[in-house]
Amino acid sequence: MFVNVALNIPSDKLFTYEVPADLESTVEIGKRVFVSFGNRKRTGFIVGMITSCDLKNLKPIAEILDAEPLFSANDLVFYQWIANYFMYPLGKVLAEIIPSGSEKKDFFWITPLASETDSHLTPAQEKLLAFLQQYPQGIALNSITKISGMKNVSSAARKLHSERLLKIEKKQNKQLSVHSEKTVTLEESKIAGAKLTDKQKKLIEFIQIRGPISLNDLTEESGISGAVIKRLQDKGLINFTASEKIRTASFDSSIRRSKNAITLNDRQNIAMEEILRHLEKNIFSPILLHGVTGSGKTEIYLKAIEKVLNSGASAIYLVPEIALTPQLISRVAGRFDAWQIAVLHSGIAESVRYDQWRQIKRGRINLVIGTRSALFAPLPNLKLIIVDEEHDASYKQDERLCYNARDLAILKAKMTSSVVITGSATPSVRTYFNAQTKKYRHLELPQRVEDKPMPVIEIVDMKAEQEKTGKVPILSDALITQIDETLKNKEQVLLFLNKRGFDTFLVCADCGYNFRCPNCAVSLKNHAAEGVVKCHYCDYTIKSLPLCPSCKSSRILNYGVGTQKLEKEIEKIFPQARIQRMDSDTTSLKGTQEKILRALELREIDILIGTQMITKGHDFPFITLVGVISADTSLNMPDFRAGEKTFQLITQVAGRGGRGNTPGRVIIQTFNPQHYALKHAQNHDYKAFYEEEIEFRSALQYPPFGRIINLRLSSIKKDELIEEAQRLGKLAKKLSARQGNTAEIIGPAESPLAKIRGRFRWQMLIKGKDINALHQIARELINKHKNGHVKIVADVDPESFM
Ligand code: ADP
Ligand code: ZN
Ligand code: ZN
Repeated sequence: MFVNVALNIPSDKLFTYEVPADLESTVEIGKRVFVSFGNRKRTGFIVGMITSCDLKNLKPIAEILDAEPLFSANDLVFYQWIANYFMYPLGKVLAEIIPSGSEKKDFFWITPLASETDSHLTPAQEKLLAFLQQYPQGIALNSITKISGMKNVSSAARKLHSERLLKIEKKQNKQLSVHSEKTVTLEESKIAGAKLTDKQKKLIEFIQIRGPISLNDLTEESGISGAVIKRLQDKGLINFTASEKIRTASFDSSIRRSKNAITLNDRQNIAMEEILRHLEKNIFSPILLHGVTGSGKTEIYLKAIEKVLNSGASAIYLVPEIALTPQLISRVAGRFDAWQIAVLHSGIAESVRYDQWRQIKRGRINLVIGTRSALFAPLPNLKLIIVDEEHDASYKQDERLCYNARDLAILKAKMTSSVVITGSATPSVRTYFNAQTKKYRHLELPQRVEDKPMPVIEIVDMKAEQEKTGKVPILSDALITQIDETLKNKEQVLLFLNKRGFDTFLVCADCGYNFRCPNCAVSLKNHAAEGVVKCHYCDYTIKSLPLCPSCKSSRILNYGVGTQKLEKEIEKIFPQARIQRMDSDTTSLKGTQEKILRALELREIDILIGTQMITKGHDFPFITLVGVISADTSLNMPDFRAGEKTFQLITQVAGRGGRGNTPGRVIIQTFNPQHYALKHAQNHDYKAFYEEEIEFRSALQYPPFGRIINLRLSSIKKDELIEEAQRLGKLAKKLSARQGNTAEIIGPAESPLAKIRGRFRWQMLIKGKDINALHQIARELINKHKNGHVKIVADVDPESFM
C-alpha cells in the first residue's frame, strides 16, 4: 500500500510513500505522517491512498502522528479546491488552516568539542568554530545562520565534524499532543472484604457516589491526600486509566439560558419562514438577508441555528474579527448548551483549537462560531452557514493564503447542500448583484425592531468653508457649532478620521476636482518630490498640473488631516473638553481599547477621535453627534471599490450614534458633496447607491463583471524588483496575446504603500471575465519567475490594492 502526502513546502507536488505492513491498518486520509524528505524528516498530511504504484524505491513512512484523522475525504475536496483556486500549495493550505501545533521536523544540533587538529581550516571554518565557543551546550544549525549571518554554515560544519571539532546531531522539536488525564475507577470485586482505614473508606465512598473521576478533581473535591490514594492503588482497590482531556476556551457561561422569549415580528417571520422552507429542502440555497442594524437579523440567525441543531445537524456562524465580542458569544451561549459550541479564532491557544477541532471532526460539537478561519472546521453534518456583516473586509486574508471566507462559504454550502445566509445592512456589491440576478434569495428587513429613527446626515461642502477665510479649516463652522451644542447638552461626540488610503491627495479648492486615472478611474497619488501624479494600478503618470483640468483654477490643494493635528485643533477650540484618541497608536497595548470604551460608557470622555477601529461592533448610547472629518480620504482611495467602501463606512459610523428615540446627528465634511456614495448614504438608500455603482463597474468591467488577480512583487532590492516586475509585465502581455487578449494586463506599477518593513512593493493586475484564463497567466508567470530576491504572491479576487 502507498500514500500520497502533502508537505508544507512551496510546491504543488505531492509525494508518494510506502506504507509498512504494520501501519497498513491505521493509515487514513486526514492523518499526519512523519516522513523522510531530503536528508531529514518532516510532517505531512495523507491526502490519498493507492494500492499499487509503479515508482521504484519509495521510502516508507516513518510514523503516523494522529490516532484519528483531522479531516474527512469530503473536507479534502474543499481544501483541494481552495489550493487550486487561490494558487497556494495544498500542503501549505493544510498547514495553515488545521490547528496541529508546530510541524514535527528534524533539525540539526551543533555542539563544539574540545579537541584540536593539525589540518588547515578555511577562514569560514575558523569563524564558525569561534562562534560556537559562545554555545558550549550547542545550538541549532538554522539559528547559527540567523544569529551570525554566516553563509554556507552546513558545509563548514560537516568539515569540522569530520575533523572531530564539533558534533552534529539530529533532533526533533516538541509536539502538540493529545492531553490526557488519569481517571480513577473502583475495583468493586476487591472492595467487599478489604480492611480499610477511615480515610480510605471515606475516599471509596466518595468515588462510589461520584462515579469515575479524574485524579485532579478527586484530590480537589474530596480533600483527601494523594498518599491515601496511592495506598488504595497499591492494594489494587482502585485503578487508574488514562483518558483524553479536551481543552476548552473559557467563555462566560455564567449567563443563564434565556428562555426564548422573543417572538418574531411580521417582517422577521416572513424571512424566517422562507429560511425554514429552504432548510427543509436539503439543497444548496444561498440567501442574502438585507436589513439595517437593529432590524433583528441576529435573532433570525439564532432561530435558524436552533432549528438545525434540533434536527441533529450542525452549523457555522461567521462574524467579522471585531464583532466577535464577549457580548455576542454570551448571546449565543445563552441559547445553546456549552458542550455544543466551539469558538474558533486566531486568538485562541493552539492546543485548545487542536482539541476543539478534533471534537468537531468527531461530531461532538455542532455549532462553530468564529472569524474567517472557522469556515474550515470539519463538521460532518453541516446544514447551515451564516456570514454576518458579509461586506466586512476582515473576511479577506491578504497574506499567505489569500482567501475570502465570504466567497468560500458559498462554495462550502454548495459542496454540502447547505443553506448559507449572508447578512448585512450594506451588502457588498458582489453579493447584492447575485441577489439582483436571482442567484441568491433576497430577504429584506427594512425597519429597526424598536422603530428607532435613522440618523440625520448633513453634508458640509469644504469648498465653501475655504471661501470664508481663504484657508481650509480642519473643522467646519457647522461641525464646531454642533460639537458645542452637544457638549452643552452633556452628550458625547465621535469624530471619525479614515486612516486607510493616501495621507494626502490633490483636490481643486474651487470645483472639487480630483485627479483620476483615465484608464482605471482610480485616484492618482501625488508624488510631490518628483512633481508628478501617478496611477498605482497601471502606472499612468502625468506632471502635477498648475491649473485644475476642469475649471482652470490655480487653487489646487494637497490636502490631508492626521489624528494628531485634529486632536491639537480640538484642544484649541474646546479647551474644557475631555478628549481621547483611539487608533492603532493609542491602543497597541493590550486592554487599552477596553479601557477607552469603558471610560466612554462612564462618560469620562467628551470627544472621542477614532479611526476604522470604532466603526463596527460597538454601540455608544451617549454619542449623539458623529463627525466625519474628511469623506474624501475614503473616496480617493486608489481602489475601484472606493465608492462602495465609502458608502459602507458612512452608514456604519452613522449607526454608532443616537439613543432611544432621539436620532443621532452626523456631519460629513467633503470637497465632493455631490458624490453619489455620499448622497445615497445621506438618504439611507442602498438601492440607489447600488444602481450607480453597478453601472460604473460594468463600464470598466470591474467585479462583479470581470475578475482580477493581483500579483504582488516585493524585494529588499529596489532595482531588481523593478527589473523583474517589468520583465514579468512584458511576459504577461505576451501570454495574454497568445490567449486572444481576453485578459487585460494592468501595470506593473509601484504599490501605493511602496515600502513595508524594508521591502519595496510593486503590483500587476490581471483582469478579465474568464478566471481560468487569468489563473493560467498567473501560474505561468510564477513558474517563469526567476529572481530569488523577489517574492511573488498571487492574490485572487483581491480586496486591497494598497
Ligand atoms: P441585528 O442583528 O439586525 O442588528 P438584532 O437581532 O441584534 O438585530 O436585534 C436588535 C435588538 O432587538 C436586540 O436587542 C434583539 O434582542 C431585539 N429584537 C430582535 N427581534 C426582536 C423582536 N421580534 N421583538 C423584540 N425584540 C427583538
Ligand atoms: Zn477645479
Ligand atoms: Zn490607471
